[in-house]
Amino acid sequence: MPANENKYGLKRSVPAPIKREIRKRVGFGCVVCGEAFATIEHFSPEFSDAHEHSPDGMTLLCGTHQIGTTAGRLTKEQVAHHNRNPYCLKNGHPWAEMNVATGSVPVVQLGNTKINASVFLKIKSRKLIWFTPNDDPNCPFLFNAVFLASDGKVTLEINENIIEANPENWDVQTVGRTIKINSAPQNILLELELLPPNEIKIKRAKWSYGGIDVDIHQDGLVETPYGSLMGGDIRAGFVGLQIGSPPKLGRFYNGVCKHVLLRRN
Ligand SMILES: [Zn+2]
Repeated sequence: MPANENKYGLKRSVPAPIKREIRKRVGFGCVVCGEAFATIEHFSPEFSDAHEHSPDGMTLLCGTHQIGTTAGRLTKEQVAHHNRNPYCLKNGHPWAEMNVATGSVPVVQLGNTKINASVFLKIKSRKLIWFTPNDDPNCPFLFNAVFLASDGKVTLEINENIIEANPENWDVQTVGRTIKINSAPQNILLELELLPPNEIKIKRAKWSYGGIDVDIHQDGLVETPYGSLMGGDIRAGFVGLQIGSPPKLGRFYNGVCKHVLLRRN
């Protein structure tokens, strides 16, 4: 029997549409605790006894609760109960905690542009990605961010290092250290990678706020109504990238820029 299939010849890999159906059904987090970094598990029957990938007998579990189930610390009946009453549908959001470290400086990468500032991105008067200093010596700063879809809905937020995704999204997928949100199979709203101990890399994103659209493309270009950032480093005491206002500062306010490549439309 090949290692990647069971005694009935069922392959371990689950088709993508079935995985998404299960993620969506349970609100995109571990059914027990809501942890967003979770994987699909067969529980009724277990994978070794399954003839097919039937979504009804499959659920989403984080590493801790998957190990607990395998070890027997969490029974099949308990998993079935949580599967019927998933954490994210009762408590609101799939979540994940960011790990930052003492001695590191918070950095956000928007596509190919690296930003080191207090407020990394602001559209008009609204802060969209920023950090706050923290008294805890083991956790010296707290990341905050809001990602908005074109209809104004929040797709994902970071509140003081806690990531919370909106369970109303069409799909929220976590792989390794990446979170990806889609509104349709080919329409990526957000793709962010956690780069501990101090960085977030935003590979794809779309913000719509106050009539201004900001789009991070697959090639790392940051497109705004006023021009596109192609890449580089921005270092600023306060605001790294200001788009839209305040008018006195111009449409872009980049603090001290280090080889920022800017293309005006
Ligand atoms: Zn869990």
